Amino acid sequence: MKRAIVTGISGQDGSYLAELLLSLGYEVHGIVRRNSPATHRLIDHLLAAPELDRRRLYLHSIDLQNVPALTDLFASVLPDEVYHLAGQSHVGLSFGDPVATCEFTAMGTLRMLEVARSCKSAPRLLHTSSSEIFGAPSQVPQDEATPHNPVSPYGVAKSFATNMVRIYRESFEQFTCNAICFNHESPRRRRTFVTRKITQAAARIKLGLESKLALGNVDAQRDWGYAPDYVRGFHALLQQDEPTDCVFATGRLHRVRDWLEIAFGYLDLDWEDYVVFDPQFTRKADPALLVGSTERARVRLDWSPSVSFESMVVQMVEHDLQIQRVRRAS
Ligand code: GDP
Repeated sequence: MKRAIVTGISGQDGSYLAELLLSLGYEVHGIVRRNSPATHRLIDHLLAAPELDRRRLYLHSIDLQNVPALTDLFASVLPDEVYHLAGQSHVGLSFGDPVATCEFTAMGTLRMLEVARSCKSAPRLLHTSSSEIFGAPSQVPQDEATPHNPVSPYGVAKSFATNMVRIYRESFEQFTCNAICFNHESPRRRRTFVTRKITQAAARIKLGLESKLALGNVDAQRDWGYAPDYVRGFHALLQQDEPTDCVFATGRLHRVRDWLEIAFGYLDLDWEDYVVFDPQFTRKADPALLVGSTERARVRLDWSPSVSFESMVVQMVEHDLQIQRVRRAS
């Protein structure tokens, strides 16, 4: 039985990854923050799952700054694979606290690399990097070799972490990989992201629970994919014979207004009747033309997205409609 350690297990990607690893027969050890709320909503269904799954899923409350505790955990679990997903992942919020962002995202990753390197038998390690490392990119689309040019504190922190992962691979001969992820969404996305904010608001407006939606730049563009697809790619990347970095993307650009059109349109609403502009949701700098090349993922991992943009948006609207209906009834 393979053993995996997953940081950020209670987030969107971590919860899908835990599901995937458990379905593949792994023993999964999730690291959760001390002092974080006792509930881990997105993995509650796994913790409550049948006996077998429950015995293969363990949660450990460890602060990612606590190197001795991490070292002890690695020594007792002896993981085959480590998936380092944890991080303050909100670009907008990173402008409000650049120091904490770098501490957690940049230094946190470096600490994980050191802990893994100190193991007798070093585990394979995957770090979820981000398209934000490209910021204002010198080429379109971006691939694994595109120079980094971040435009946010989050992008800078991720760039540092991504380069460290490469250095541990090249100089310390560790099996370390960056999954360079473009935006990826799902019904488990937090509402601080514009995608979920839109699908939830569309559902609430449809049910008469809200009348307006305040947004920033609706012409902002991103390459938006489906989170469970990307998680499938993380696992495939660590099963390769040789470690490498890999971009996970769809290769297609959409605008925030496309989300509005599909989400509201699905509910027979015209988004322009409800959306108001609020400058507090605009960015000091917004990346331009971030769109990923999926060639390496396709060729080496036989990976491709399984869900179209439209069906992802509709799936999220359906999910939010269901949640809001239940809330309204209770
Ligand atoms: P990320 O910034 O790419 O990690 O993802 P977000 O979902 O937070 O933002 C995606 C894009 O939507 C950015 O370019 C924002 O400028 C734009 N955007 C427009 N209105 C909003 C809003 O109300 N909230 C957020 N989070 N983003 C918005």
